[in-house]
Amino acid sequence: MSAEKTILSIQSFVTHGYVGNKAATFPLQLHGFDVDNINTVSLSNHSGYPIICGHRMDLQEYETLMDGIRANNFLSSYRYVLTGYINNADIVRKVRDTVREIRTLREKEGKKLTFVCDPVMGDDGIMYCKEEVLQAYKDMIGNADISTPNYYEASLLSGINITDMKTALQAADWFHAQGTKIVVIKSFRTKEDPQNLQFLVSSMTDEDKTPQRFTGVFPYLEGRYTGTGDVFSAVFLAFLHQHPLEVAVGKAMGVLQDVILATRKEGGDGKSSLMSRELRVTRSVQSLLNPTTLVEVKPM
Ligand code: ADP
Ligand code: CA
Ligand code: CA
Repeated sequence: MSAEKTILSIQSFVTHGYVGNKAATFPLQLHGFDVDNINTVSLSNHSGYPIICGHRMDLQEYETLMDGIRANNFLSSYRYVLTGYINNADIVRKVRDTVREIRTLREKEGKKLTFVCDPVMGDDGIMYCKEEVLQAYKDMIGNADISTPNYYEASLLSGINITDMKTALQAADWFHAQGTKIVVIKSFRTKEDPQNLQFLVSSMTDEDKTPQRFTGVFPYLEGRYTGTGDVFSAVFLAFLHQHPLEVAVGKAMGVLQDVILATRKEGGDGKSSLMSRELRVTRSVQSLLNPTTLVEVKPM
């Protein structure tokens, strides 16, 4: 039933700026999705800023929310579960139980659940989660239908240091070996071609004997942006709801190029302040729905 545009989105919340649920909810709502949020943290801003104040959910709070969601029979209504920043090993493990519970409930009604797991743990060689969280993700990633790690998270999980396409392919195979059907390694830069970013999409469904692979390349925009992955997983899910995999990936990549370019145009170039580099999510309505940048997705 393609009309079912319902998501349980388990991510961070920030008062200022656009990461986690703050970055994902608006694009998903624009695409017509009902987004039920679980905010794993409720912080003043993302962790790049010198000062971070707020609240972090513990297991009990997660379970209390789930009790309410379960008691009101909301659970079986979710067509998708999307997870991002959690940084709590107990909650990561509990999410697996939640996904299993929803899957079982929906199977009884002949309905599908797609679990999109963005295993948010770090970026560019810096791990910002606890070691036990990495282990918890290793144990649960096989339950994800789709995973969208950045190259560093894919490296942490698989134990394969991604430096080029060969190592990216090996890492993707690790995900498939765990049971993850689709993995998108969203971007990586090679020594040979530092001007560009490449990506890898690898899909291994139950019918496939070998994985289907897609790749593409787009210019590296100088500078570090936060929340790019969170916008990516949101719009990727939205496009995948109505398009084939390779089309959805191309559109999602295009959205990110549009949004980063819009951010740069409005004062957020690579050298500007963190505040100036907050992604212009709300200014990019047309792009979020139908990006102007075209990123070609080629079969390998
Ligand atoms: P994460 O944000 O989770 O670390 P990535 O760094 O791979 O993941 O970014 C997600 C997506 O955002 C990429 O697939 C790419 O489309 C876009 N992106 C992020 N940073 C840049 C950049 N500096 N230049 C161009 N595109 C970028
Ligand atoms: Ca990154
Ligand atoms: Ca990320």
